[in-house]
Amino acid sequence: MPRYDTVVLNGTVIMPYVDPVRCDIGVRDGRVVALADALAPGDAADVVDARGRLVLPGAVDSHFHIGIYRDLATDATSETASALAGGVTTVLSYFRTGQHYLNKSGPYRTIFPEVVAATEGHAYTDFGYHLGIMTSEQLDEVDWLVGEQGVGSFKYYMFYKGLNLTSDSTRGSAYTMSDAYDLGHLYLLMRQVASASAVHGARGRVSLSLHCEQAELIRVFIDEVKRSGPGGLEGYHRARPPLTERLSIAEALVLADETRCPVNLLHLSSGEALRAAAQGRREFPHLDIRLETTLHHLALTHATAHGILGKVNPPIRTEADRDALWDAVVRGSIDTVVSDHACCAEADKGEDLWKALPGFGGTALLYPYLVSEGHGKRGLGLTRVAELASANPARAFGLYPKKGTIAVGSDADLVVLDPDRERVVTPDVLHSAQDFTPFAGMRVRGWPTHTILRGRVVFQDGRVQGRPAGEYVKRPVSRP
Ligand SMILES: [Zn+2]
Repeated sequence: MPRYDTVVLNGTVIMPYVDPVRCDIGVRDGRVVALADALAPGDAADVVDARGRLVLPGAVDSHFHIGIYRDLATDATSETASALAGGVTTVLSYFRTGQHYLNKSGPYRTIFPEVVAATEGHAYTDFGYHLGIMTSEQLDEVDWLVGEQGVGSFKYYMFYKGLNLTSDSTRGSAYTMSDAYDLGHLYLLMRQVASASAVHGARGRVSLSLHCEQAELIRVFIDEVKRSGPGGLEGYHRARPPLTERLSIAEALVLADETRCPVNLLHLSSGEALRAAAQGRREFPHLDIRLETTLHHLALTHATAHGILGKVNPPIRTEADRDALWDAVVRGSIDTVVSDHACCAEADKGEDLWKALPGFGGTALLYPYLVSEGHGKRGLGLTRVAELASANPARAFGLYPKKGTIAVGSDADLVVLDPDRERVVTPDVLHSAQDFTPFAGMRVRGWPTHTILRGRVVFQDGRVQGRPAGEYVKRPVSRP
């Protein structure tokens, strides 16, 4: 009987929070059981040679949208395959009731088990869910969701408030299928999440994620841009300008202060949003505020994102915003970098900017882009790359240290990455069902050769291996 199921030999191992180290990794029963100067290949059933390569902890892509525009099970399969190509071994996906996803509303007591059942057996990565609490009825399910269902994080969309008024001026929107979705609902939701955090937080962080754009301002600026331009993605940026992020962040943080709710400010896209978040952290130093940005806000501008194909909320912005975001990533004020992956078809973008579906995929670029641009061009240490894409999201969402690190006892989620492998981005390179990419033409250096999930090689040299074996991970996981 070999002592190890798998060994990863000769690599430079990148662990979060410490310097890179040359060591071998021994895996048994899906976990890391040995880190040593040298392990014998004969002691293992499987040997992965990582000579000349980096070994990183599997990335935790903590902002994902499985099934937002397509059948959930089908999307889970194709889009977690894309995740493996980028070194992602755990996906935390947003789900909400209302339009898109399952196109219905109701209590999570009946809907959430359906969501997990539709994903299980179809995902190549391990997975968890953040849930949008959309109705008054769902507010009372928060404690049950955390305590019994392993949902340690929730979401509120600041800009859906503008959808509350319908044409017949009854309350409730066809889009959200909510009764009242406004700051009053947010306040009640924060109270529920703060109270669940007090009960369950000793096992790991419980939090509320916020999509910060301000609805009434968006209405005004959309009217202006529709009247007098400009067109294209620059118009989209001006229709939802950084001011809407700033005001929305300020509103949300006042309520977070009142309720003491731990929050995540999602997909910050602009220098102005960063300044609002920094001001919030100064004003409310007792609050737990985590900051996130996305690959596309780091990589693209409204001039380079291929027009309507790059439509996403919040919009892709200017070169100055992109530089401000990179600066915050390098300085350490941004905690996590994510893909906000939402697979859609080029046909869903169509010709009309205002009708095009927002969002697109990018998970396959998570490690490659951070290594290529961050480490290769902007002086970001490899340790920091592992923190931004793996350890920090794992800690923020109650997965650490099961996920997010390479340590004895942790899940053996590992990525062997060739720092010299260069690819020009095309849809094919991303292994997604999406037939276009706003990242097309980008030259990226540093790609995974092996992605290993709980000790099993699940992606090797450009191909997914085996059947989808991702498991649902209940959060928060117990701290040791
Ligand atoms: Zn999103």
